[in-house]
Amino acid sequence: MTKSIVLLGSTGSIGRQTLEVCERMGIRVCALTAGRSLDLICEQARRYHPQLVSVARESDAAELRQRLADCRPAITVMHGQAGNIAAATIPEADTVVAAMVGVAGLEPVLAAIRCGRTIALANKETLVAGGALVMPLLSRYNSRIYPVDSEHSAIWQCLAAAPPKSLRRILLTASGGPFRGRSRQELNHVTLAQALNHPTWRMGGKITIDSATLMNKGLEVIEASWLFDCPTEKIEVVVHPQSIIHSMVELQDGSVLAQMGFPDMKLPIQLALTWPRRLPGDGRPFNPFDRQAGTLTFEQPDRQAFPLLQLAYDAAKAGGTLPAVMNAANEVAVGLFLQERITFTVIADLVRQVMDRHMQSGFMTAFTFDDMMEQDRWARGQVLHLTGQTSASEDGRPGGC
Ligand code: MG
Repeated sequence: MTKSIVLLGSTGSIGRQTLEVCERMGIRVCALTAGRSLDLICEQARRYHPQLVSVARESDAAELRQRLADCRPAITVMHGQAGNIAAATIPEADTVVAAMVGVAGLEPVLAAIRCGRTIALANKETLVAGGALVMPLLSRYNSRIYPVDSEHSAIWQCLAAAPPKSLRRILLTASGGPFRGRSRQELNHVTLAQALNHPTWRMGGKITIDSATLMNKGLEVIEASWLFDCPTEKIEVVVHPQSIIHSMVELQDGSVLAQMGFPDMKLPIQLALTWPRRLPGDGRPFNPFDRQAGTLTFEQPDRQAFPLLQLAYDAAKAGGTLPAVMNAANEVAVGLFLQERITFTVIADLVRQVMDRHMQSGFMTAFTFDDMMEQDRWARGQVLHLTGQTSASEDGRPGGC
């Protein structure tokens, strides 16, 4: 069981819930990193007394250093990716919780793996873009990844009860998001506020939009493929609007195992920190007679209305740098949608165009971290070019929340 953690992305939804779990379980917090939520990370630093905190910008770090100057023992304040990496490799921590948004989480995760840390992974873009870089390092550095994503935690829990090589198929559940049942035509007119109104989960902006487009499920298919060494052809997405079953596995003998409960991210967070132990949780107890749990339904996803799901399968099939390019294009397109600069259906159009262009030139089957980041930057630039934008946000890296 984890005794001390580093938390990358402490001010987001997963980050805040991770701190609640740590507080309840007496797990020490060695370092915190965040983007721009200065007030919140300052408050967190005072409450949890980490050795190190890091924020995105140098000017914010300077202000935070002043605000935390009276803390004893003193707290080191850093910024940028160097700060994230310094946090991820702190010797005192045994687990790094990766809860940052977007592919920016990949480099600190790679650094933590090289130090033999356990990774509690909530950042799915890390494996989508860099699975080919991450997975071979795990055995070499005696590291491991425990999933925090609720679906992957469910699959992991089910597979713990299955003998090796007995997996036949993964049934990855999806709530369907706020636009379940709408046609492609109807989706042309949806608003940002509607897209942000997820029916079962309260999350950050990026993942909420990804849930509305079903890209989140596409990213999760690729994430599951890496985590459980399962080809994407054997991963089926099942729309299950009640979000009671968090995913299922079908074994070779035909048995189907499911993990269930009311939606609550604190359970997968806690399990990733206490594995293999099962300690008391504080979530809402399951009640099969509750209205939400009383009727469980299952549907096929609509791949015409939500083309990003199919694009993710296509990207996984091509492999190489295509998933990274798809992910980067999606991060920028979602950022533009969150700023109301493009409409909802344009997100998928942009991602498809950038993927097509990448397959025409630039595609690599085998790649290094630097190759991948170069293609990532290219894809981000392409989305801005295609939409006639010069910069999507002040720092040119939209997609955060
Ligand atoms: Mg999920």
